[in-house]
Amino acid sequence: MHTTPQTPLPTTMPAGNAGAVPLDWALVQDDLRKVVGAEDYASWLAPLVPHKLEGRTLTLGVPTRFMQDWVGNNYRTLVATTVEARVGYPVDVALTVTPAFASMAAPAAVVAAAKEIPAPAETEVAAVDTASRFDPRYTFDSFVTGKGNEFAFAAAKRVAEEGGFNPLFLHGGVGLGKTHLMHAIGWEITRRKPGLKVMYLSSEQFFSRFIRSLQVKDVFAFKQQMRDMDVLMVDDVQFICGKDATQEEFFHTFNALVGSGKQVVLTADRSPHELDNIDERLKSRLGSGLTVKVNPPDVETRLAILRSKAAQMELSLADEVLENLAATIASNVRELEGALNRLVAASRLMGNEITLEFARDQLADLYRLHARVVTVDDIQKTVADYFKIRVADMHSPRRARNLARPRQVAMYLCKQLTTRSFPDIGRAFGGKDHTTVMHGVNTIRDLMERDGELAEHVGILTQMLGGVRG
Ligand code: ADP
Ligand code: MG
Repeated sequence: MHTTPQTPLPTTMPAGNAGAVPLDWALVQDDLRKVVGAEDYASWLAPLVPHKLEGRTLTLGVPTRFMQDWVGNNYRTLVATTVEARVGYPVDVALTVTPAFASMAAPAAVVAAAKEIPAPAETEVAAVDTASRFDPRYTFDSFVTGKGNEFAFAAAKRVAEEGGFNPLFLHGGVGLGKTHLMHAIGWEITRRKPGLKVMYLSSEQFFSRFIRSLQVKDVFAFKQQMRDMDVLMVDDVQFICGKDATQEEFFHTFNALVGSGKQVVLTADRSPHELDNIDERLKSRLGSGLTVKVNPPDVETRLAILRSKAAQMELSLADEVLENLAATIASNVRELEGALNRLVAASRLMGNEITLEFARDQLADLYRLHARVVTVDDIQKTVADYFKIRVADMHSPRRARNLARPRQVAMYLCKQLTTRSFPDIGRAFGGKDHTTVMHGVNTIRDLMERDGELAEHVGILTQMLGGVRG
């Protein structure tokens, strides 16, 4: 076809145009199976369904949200590198929950820009049917205890064995084992009393089931189903906050269950009284049973967790590698586990032994992240987000307590986590005098001794910031 220079450039490339590299998914599947072994492959990777490879993004469908998280956390890098080996350029893997596709046979080959496969928009709702299945890996046996989580573990076990503590409310940062403990409770109760109806739902699942019942005008059936449970576990309830109708419904369900002696187990990223946008009645009810905080594991526990995971995977890894990982990746267990999985996948793929050097090399990004120098900007932004104020409030002279306190916390963290001087920090906070900074830092230091809640906020923020002194 003849094109003149005046012809406008097409805004979209037709399918199959430049960059369209056919990807033979069956071959990728073979590679993956070899790397992870038949069992893990069948559980986690076989259900993946390729949707499209567009640009450098490969979109894969997964049947449930749970798998989306799991595969995302544990296998994303492996899938990406395996695909890269086939197509010859790096790809990003995006996972989308598309239950309808899970049961269909995977197409043998996906071609770039195969737009005819639509990604269903409604994902949450359809994940519902798998809601009460428990993850086989999340048991009490596989949970490593140590300072930080032993109380939560004991409480969860007690609830599973003899009930009581109603509701049990576990709270703490991400990746510390809250979901794990809920599944473990689920397993244990179904093992002991197979007749009991035990349901585990993420907040989103609760929300979407409820909304769905409104749409199909069958709220009654929803209520019945929830009230019919002997044990109801709802994960990450902070997501229900602010959703008024859902919250209201949750409150009624909760009261009905607890009122009739049914066990309720809940988790959130913070304690009941720190939840925002939530009805006061519900807030006080949530905290009316046993509330337990899950703290980040200390280095010994992190090492024990790594040893246990390595044993589960039948790996023998040099102590120095495990110790180094445990010392470096202090944030949470999920990241720790992710690092180990990545390392193992890389070593299998490349046929290398896992030495300290190999580990450092393969996990260079993580090592960099955790040794990251925390900047004043990071701190201001993180603290402002956390206390829901604007970053600009960090610089402003306004002294209202709700602004001044977070600002002082940020100053305190700047002193703890960076090497900047008092005058330097003052300048970064809108040109404040160094005495103002000193006062702020001292105020927080003193308050933390008396005010457990503040100390907890500072602890969480330190963890969020990576906590490494720059
Ligand atoms: P949370 O729900 O608190 O965000 P998860 O329960 O999802 O955290 O835990 C993240 C990952 O870390 C899971 O794979 C879980 O099995 C693992 N994990 C967390 N704590 C422990 C522990 N104490 N022992 C063994 N594995 C743990
Ligand atoms: Mg969780």
